[in-house]
Amino acid sequence: MDRQQDAVLRTIEDRDVRFVRLWFTDVVGTLKSVALAPAEVESAFTEGLGFDGSSIDGYTRISESDMLLQPDPATFTILPWRGEQGQTSRMFCDLLTPDGAPAPADPRHALRRVLEKASDMGFSCYTHPEIEFYLLKSSELGPDGQPQPVDTAGYFDHVPGGEAQDFRRDAVTMLEEMGISVEFSHHENGPGQNEIDLRAADALTTADNIMTFRTVVKEVAAQQGSYATFMPKPFALHPGSGMHTHFSLFEGDANAFYDPADEFRLSKTGRSFIAGLLRHSEEISAVTHQFVNSYKRLWGGGEAPSYVSWGHNNRSALVRVPLYKPDKAGSARIEYRGIDASANPYLTYALLLAAGLKGIEEGYELPEPASDDVSALSPHERRVLGHTPLPGTLHDALRLAEDSEFVASVLGEHVFDAFLRHKRQEWDDYRVEVTPYELRRYLSAL
Ligand code: GLN
Ligand code: MG
Ligand code: MG
Ligand code: MG
Repeated sequence: MDRQQDAVLRTIEDRDVRFVRLWFTDVVGTLKSVALAPAEVESAFTEGLGFDGSSIDGYTRISESDMLLQPDPATFTILPWRGEQGQTSRMFCDLLTPDGAPAPADPRHALRRVLEKASDMGFSCYTHPEIEFYLLKSSELGPDGQPQPVDTAGYFDHVPGGEAQDFRRDAVTMLEEMGISVEFSHHENGPGQNEIDLRAADALTTADNIMTFRTVVKEVAAQQGSYATFMPKPFALHPGSGMHTHFSLFEGDANAFYDPADEFRLSKTGRSFIAGLLRHSEEISAVTHQFVNSYKRLWGGGEAPSYVSWGHNNRSALVRVPLYKPDKAGSARIEYRGIDASANPYLTYALLLAAGLKGIEEGYELPEPASDDVSALSPHERRVLGHTPLPGTLHDALRLAEDSEFVASVLGEHVFDAFLRHKRQEWDDYRVEVTPYELRRYLSAL
């Protein structure tokens, strides 16, 4: 056992922790949890905890179902919502095969692999997500057949005595108690819609933090008698929920995206990174936008990006370079606005970072920035300017992903096959549905 593992065992003893939950994530990004008695933690560290992987989506085939969970001691945290007495804690886990090798089905490992590659190239990768979600009165629909938001406020509104305000205060407090630093929180554009932005951390920690964030937000909502949803587009008439993420690469202490001599203070590395994000954005869309509903957000307005483009102060762009001040060299970063709020953060960050790194490695040229609202241009103007559309449906996205050697190589064949199989099924289920829209539009007209 190493020092970190020892320290965890001591904390468990000192704080009278009764349950240690082991957390891990399946290919679509659903959090899985198994509770362990404190006496079992030592052997989980040294030998791993065996479980039947075949019952988890996308993990193993039945014939090779044995898998091991190995808790990552760096992620040990007490769960603040479980009370003072007989405390509950959690650790994220890596998945191993019975012979102790990283399991090819583990999304966390896919991200680790890309981060190792970045490190071989001399970079450490930092990420900072802006997470949007709707706060609803409950998970039930109202009498009008729509979800029921807790308020009717809008962007940055301060609602005196408002439910969302208390909600954000409690959620932020709980996140901070778990060591997750929050930079901003505010009411978003839609009724009941909120945003909480986490401070930059290394990409693996951010992905773990996003999984924790979703749990905390749902937990606090439940405590207050409301319901939080990360569904990408719950209302046709209000903006969807995105998870814009800011990326920065550091070489030692130096921000690799910063160049004071450039017009936009963007280094050649930064330019090639953006070019990589743009060039691979369509084929990775099935992962960055993994649900049937994700495409309602992309094509339903509300400042969601629909076309491949980049810009500075352009909220229709897929990639935005915030204008940072010269004295803030360290904060140079690149924002990818295409991700939605319920993407699997491990696979999403693995693909986006790999796309950017490929741009750097192969010296991709960056196209011209978009200066106008890309969705207001005519199809012809967009074609001339090279702003191709993102996929229109999950089906379109899957066709691109299925043919993508890039996606297969970053995810690894196992995750790639399991993910695509799962999503194909989702599309097949959806396409045979007859929706309320069709009944409204066609039943009495045809
Ligand atoms: N809700 C928008 C989206 O889905 C973002 C709005 C904003 O933060 N400017 O991406
Ligand atoms: Mg924001
Ligand atoms: Mg926002
Ligand atoms: Mg943003």
